[in-house]
Amino acid sequence: MSTKRDYYEVLGVDRKATEKELKNAFRSKARKYHPDKNPDDPEAEKKFKEVQEAYAILSNPEERQSYDRFGHNRPGGSPFGAGGFQGVNISVEDLFGGGFESIFSSLFGGRGGRTRSTRGADLLVSHSITFEQAFSGAEEEIEIDILNHCENCSGSGSETSDGIRECPTCEGRGRITRIERIGPFHQQLTQDCRACNGEGRIIQNPCNKCRGEGRSKQTKKVRFSVPPGIVSGTRLRMAGQGEASKFQNGGSGNLFIEIEVESHEWFERDGSDLLMALPMNYADLVIGSNIEIPHLDGSPLKIKIPAGSSPGETITVVGRGMPAIRSRNGRGSVMVLLKLAMPKKVSRATKKQLADMRDDLGSGNSDITKDIADEARNRRRS
Ligand SMILES: [Zn+2]
Ligand SMILES: [Zn+2]
Repeated sequence: MSTKRDYYEVLGVDRKATEKELKNAFRSKARKYHPDKNPDDPEAEKKFKEVQEAYAILSNPEERQSYDRFGHNRPGGSPFGAGGFQGVNISVEDLFGGGFESIFSSLFGGRGGRTRSTRGADLLVSHSITFEQAFSGAEEEIEIDILNHCENCSGSGSETSDGIRECPTCEGRGRITRIERIGPFHQQLTQDCRACNGEGRIIQNPCNKCRGEGRSKQTKKVRFSVPPGIVSGTRLRMAGQGEASKFQNGGSGNLFIEIEVESHEWFERDGSDLLMALPMNYADLVIGSNIEIPHLDGSPLKIKIPAGSSPGETITVVGRGMPAIRSRNGRGSVMVLLKLAMPKKVSRATKKQLADMRDDLGSGNSDITKDIADEARNRRRS
């Protein structure tokens, strides 16, 4: 799990904060931690970078939406690329004027200039399966409500096929680039075209069903296979099964299905090994015993308890654990922890028999201090 702080917390704003509130919060925090005001203070420098990163994400509507949905743990890794956020150079003057916005808007994906291809959003759903299904694998089908291409307009967003024209303001690029002077610097500013909201096209007669968006909420069936041996928390990635893009401008997003494995009545998992405890009574441990219990793979699990076993010892049944994921054959082991089951009630007759056997059931030493010393020696050796 990431130890990164929540972006809203970093900026000290509410999750519903408006663009303006975000900007004000960023401005005041960035001023406070700016390196010019805190020379040679690595702690302030770290904070400055943290505040920048939080603002970079939350000031970008797409990135903010993705963050709200997935947090720091979003599919596809860091939006800043493999190295994570590197920080940007902002002067104190930039923070008073408005010079910092364009720096942030140009951070993602180098989209400036050309029409943006906005891929549909990634979706995350969770799905539970039984422990038995995790053992043998499963073919599953779920229904999800998802933004899919509108059938009425085939995703174009227009009621009529000739109702779409290129935006004359940006010539279809969706963005407008201009050079602006900020203090001593010349800066290239790229902004969404206001005339077409950055879409690069204008729909004269929007589709009635999707209101011109080219997509609508639909219920979709998704089938998928769960591989045998899957571990709880695994995310299965269904490429292209996420939200459709606007106007089919870019591919669909991905669908991630997070598998939650329900717990078993007695097994715990450790990778491909299965752990269980087996309560045995004193006589079973002294004389030895053979146990058979039903098992996940359909044939009974045979556990042989050798005579003279002690509580706390483990018996390993090799090859009867979970299938090792990503290997065709091979299964883990079942590790059986022996426990001493104490009777809740003992009849008077049994008590009497036990009393008669008491001397016989001891260690063979006649001296309790010798028993204690023996125990300590064994314990320290193991
Ligand atoms: Zn335009
Ligand atoms: Zn439509």
